[in-house]
Amino acid sequence: MRKTIPAVALMCAAMMITASCSKPVDKETETSASAASTTVSETTETTSAPSEFKISLSGKAADKTIVDKNSYYEGEDYVIYFEKDSTVYGDTASRIDSVMHDMEELYGMSYGNKEYAVNAEWKQAYGFGNLGQVNSDGSKIDIVICKDMSDGSIECCDSNAIFLFDSDFEPTRDNFSILYHEFAHLLRLRQSPNLGKVLEEGIGSYTEDRMARSRGESAWDTIQYVSDDIHKIPYDDSVIVKDPEQEFRDNNIGDRADGQKEYQYGIRFITFLVSEYGDGIVKTLSENARKYDYDGKDNDTIIKIIKESTSDDIFERFAKWLPKGWKAYSKDYFKYMEKKGLM
Ligand SMILES: [Zn+2]
Repeated sequence: MRKTIPAVALMCAAMMITASCSKPVDKETETSASAASTTVSETTETTSAPSEFKISLSGKAADKTIVDKNSYYEGEDYVIYFEKDSTVYGDTASRIDSVMHDMEELYGMSYGNKEYAVNAEWKQAYGFGNLGQVNSDGSKIDIVICKDMSDGSIECCDSNAIFLFDSDFEPTRDNFSILYHEFAHLLRLRQSPNLGKVLEEGIGSYTEDRMARSRGESAWDTIQYVSDDIHKIPYDDSVIVKDPEQEFRDNNIGDRADGQKEYQYGIRFITFLVSEYGDGIVKTLSENARKYDYDGKDNDTIIKIIKESTSDDIFERFAKWLPKGWKAYSKDYFKYMEKKGLM
């Protein structure tokens, strides 16, 4: 494990558990390491950052350089940190801008909301001590880009920082999907307390699939969750149909190593909620969540928030929708991938 993530409410990319994949993510590196953290400052005072580490970006993907020291780029709302020896693509900031814009449009929420953003002090743990003065009050979002060592580390996110790999920006890869996943998390986590693993990963995975496909990308990550007569996955939907609310509870406090069920349940549930209530459901959940003092494992409160945002019989309705609804979603996915010539 190369990295430990000193984040308070960490959300991660899904690991591929079936089929082939363009992304070498096979092991979890999430740790329970905690670090001092502070609520993000409301002011946006300029920090006295060491200028020798500051870089500019051309805006062109073809402009590719490898940085020989930890470096940073300062945008209006975020700072991008590049790990020593990582590859920097000239269009890094414009890709990020495009994804952030799409996310705000889709969900009608703003990254500018800092009320629930917590500034985790990750720099020492990540070996970015030379940039300790940069954005030290956390008034901007930290976007950390590390050299991809293909060592099993995966992309992660909390409410004020995102951890990505340089390979996520390679122009020849379907590099928008992971950005959508992590930036959907970031946007969501800035609006209210953490809604728990099932809802947060459901939102991340649903958004990733939807937005990757809307850009005409390959959306390989989704193949972990969908099945048809030919493509099988090690997850049996009937466990949800049997007792949808209990299954939600179990997956929300369960161990990720147990088949990543929070992702499996989550993407199905968010797909269902969006189909019933539209994209605004994410905002509604976020707004209702603000009324309560709770944490992401507090099943009773999270279920109360869900029911308040939808209906008391929402889990029964979900179970009724699931067999046909998820089959249709899967069919649509495979049709898309076939049309792209990917399977
Ligand atoms: Zn995630």
